[in-house]
Parts: sequence; C-alpha cells; structure tokens
Amino acid sequence: EMISSGIQSLTDKFDFSYLQPGNNGSYNLWNMKSSTLEQTGFIIEPNNVQFKFTNPLGKKGTPQEIQEQNDKRYAQVFDKQITEPKDFDIESIRPPADPKKYKLANATIIALVRNNEASSIGKTIRRFEKKFNDKFHYPYTFLNDEPFTDAFKSRIAKYTDAPMEFVTVGPEFWKKPSFIDETRQKVEMDKLQAQNIAYATMESYHNMCRFYSGMFYNLPELQKYKYYWRIEPNVNFYTDIKYDVFKYLQGTGKKYGFTINLYDIHETVVSLWPETLRFLNLGNNYKYVNKNGAFQWLLEPHQNPKKNSDTGGYSTCHFWSNFEIADMDFYRSEAYNEWFKHLDRSGGFYYERWGDAPVHSLGLSLFADKKDIHWFRDIGYFHDPYFNCPKSENTKLCSAGRFSRWDHLNDQNCMSSWIDYSIDDLDKIY
Ligand code: GDP
Ligand code: MN
Repeated sequence: EMISSGIQSLTDKFDFSYLQPGNNGSYNLWNMKSSTLEQTGFIIEPNNVQFKFTNPLGKKGTPQEIQEQNDKRYAQVFDKQITEPKDFDIESIRPPADPKKYKLANATIIALVRNNEASSIGKTIRRFEKKFNDKFHYPYTFLNDEPFTDAFKSRIAKYTDAPMEFVTVGPEFWKKPSFIDETRQKVEMDKLQAQNIAYATMESYHNMCRFYSGMFYNLPELQKYKYYWRIEPNVNFYTDIKYDVFKYLQGTGKKYGFTINLYDIHETVVSLWPETLRFLNLGNNYKYVNKNGAFQWLLEPHQNPKKNSDTGGYSTCHFWSNFEIADMDFYRSEAYNEWFKHLDRSGGFYYERWGDAPVHSLGLSLFADKKDIHWFRDIGYFHDPYFNCPKSENTKLCSAGRFSRWDHLNDQNCMSSWIDYSIDDLDKIY
C-alpha cells in the first residue's frame, strides 16, 4: 500500500523522500514536502527530525477547562456499552472446550517479583486465572534478580495449573552498567529525592526500570516467545475475558496492548525526549520513525502544560506498563534497540529515573504505526490507584468509567488524548 502510494507520488515534486524499513528487510519509499511541519506536525529527513503539536481538534481553554472537556470526553466514551473488539473475528479465538488440547499462541505471562512477594503476586494470579488464564493455560515465566526460593515456588504452584518457569536474571541484564558515574548518580538521585520523587535513591528500582525498558526480551529464557502479558503483585481484573488476547494481537498484527494512559512525574523524564530527538538526528536514524506514529499524543500540551515545558515538549503521556500485552519482536527490532542503546549510554536510567512505561511509550509512538497499538478497553483492570473499568456484561465489581478512587487524580488521565489523536475510528474497533 505504502509502496504504491510512494510510486504514485514520484510524479509530484517533493522536497525529500526516504526509505522506511518494512517487514523482512524490505523498505517502503515515502515522499513528503518538507514545508509541512505546520500541517502534519512532523519533518523526518536526515539530521532534521522535528515534531510539532498542531492542535488537530482546535482545542482551546485553560488547563482546567481542557481537563473538564477531556473528562467529559472520557465519560462519554465509557458511557457506551462496550463489547469485545470489532476489528477481528473474535468467534475464531474463543476458549477451547479442553485447554489441554488447545494450540497456544507463542506467548507467556511474565512477572518480575521478589521472593517476599509470593502472596501479593499470588493474589494477582488467582484473579488472573479466574478471569482469563484458566481457560487457556498460558505458561508463566517468573523473573527475579535473585534465585527464587523453594518456598516461593511451592507457594506459587498452589495458584495455578499452568506451566511455570523460574528465571534468575543475570547481573548482565540487571546491574547498573559500569559507565555510570557514581558520583554524578548520587548527586542527581539526591536532587530527585529532595523533590520527593518516589524511589529516587533506590537503585534496584532504577535497575528494574532499565530491565523492563531494554533488557527482559533478550533473556535466553524468553527467546522462545513472541508475545507476553505482564502482570504485577496486587493488581485486579474485573472482566471475564472470553477470547485469546494473544491471538487477537497475532491476527490483527498489532504490537502492543494497554489499558491505562496517564501523565508521568515529569521530574523523572526531563531529558528523555531531548535525548530521543538527539538520537533521531544522528546519522540515518531518521529512517526508523514511522510516518503514522502517535506524534500528537506524544506532544499534547493542553491539560498539563508544565509537563511539556519541563521535558522539552513531551506530554509525558504513557501506557501504564504494569499491564502490557505485547509483541517482544517490536523491542527486538533494530530501531528500538539502537535507540535503547543510545538512551542507556546517556545514563538517564540512573541520573534521572526514566521509567519503562515512558520508554516503551516513546518507542511505540515513534517506531510503530499507531493503529498497531491497542487499547484493551474491554479489559477491566486496576493497579493502585487507577482503573480501566468498561461498562459491559462481563464486568463485575468496578464502577464503569472511574479512573481513580481519588477524584483529584483525574488530571493524571490522558486517555482522552489517546482517543482523540491516535484512534482513527473508535466505532470500528469497539
Ligand atoms: P511501582 O508499581 O512503580 O510502584 O513499582 P513496583 O514496586 O510494583 O515494581 C514493579 C515490578 O517490578 C513489580 O512486579 C515488582 O515486584 C518488581 N520489582 C521491583 N523491584 C524489584 C527488585 O529489586 N527485584 C525484583 N525481583 N523485582 C522487583
Ligand atoms: Mn506496581
């Protein structure tokens, strides 16, 4: 599709063209006029990659007014009875009568946990099995930077009949790289601590964020898998999920699924976007950018303008990564990996507190087509303090459309920005 439109447009006059890496080593040619920053919101040419928020819906108002509009939009979307996704034949991916005879997708449930989290991850697993996995028996992969104890293993076995693998994450995947300057790290972490940023000085949390950002999918034990669903201790699921979500991704070719969309603590990602732009403006890296990326969502400045001004333009909107159903081959791609290596070298996982959620989100919105990023709107989910709670016949025990049990946290919700700027046709999908 893209190739033919590229060829067609060769007859016109273009200021630049470039090859976008496609599947199996092929390239897509696309051409654009470089005077279009105002109209399209982006320029992508060698050593000149720029993004600009163009306000496609012409939203106006103070942040408070915008937030009211956005809250209304969110409520309006949640007011509709929601069904399973409409852009795939869900009947073809129903649970089997007998899970033992089911041909699974190439997928695993992953949980990075500590030995002392057996009962909290156990709670999650009990709920998760009831709502999804006892119909399918997808295997679990438990990850830990220390060896799991026998007590942990036998405790966990009580919660599920599904196969389980226990992986000790080696120091090469977990520990701080040797190029990190420890004096600078201490100075910067203390500064974050002085601003009351959670986990500012806790090095293991920084390790965890780096591990989930750019490491886990390279673990030898995960090489055999393409898809994963990430779970965490103490989360809850409110809907009975009656189709194979992995086969939904596989069948639609989508790369990433999320439930909750929110702003980040901007102090933790001050240089993430500038560092990303620096990367994109080096050598041929411009070629990694996907023309159909979620750029407007990335830059939306209306609801929390302070975020953008403190981060060099990044809205800080991100997919909350304690819930992810995704394709690891996306992270294994050259684009994502070259970018991650650049980020890692810059030290921001330790000099700041870059989270894996904003890192995944930036990578996806730059290098993937936004139509390949899926809001699992129909999956009721909770990780303290936020919900995704759909109104549907499969939903139990959450209050439809509620974002948080603390109303003052509603300004942290940027789901309506995703809906407005990144979903082309809501009614086609839901
Ligand atoms: P929060 O949700 O951002 O507050 O972070 P969590 O404390 O929930 O951590 C995210 C995930 O990483 C959870 O699944 C934790 O169990 C896990 N985790 C965090 N730090 C460590 C660590 O040092 N070792 C291990 N094994 N797991 C960790
Ligand atoms: Mn958590």
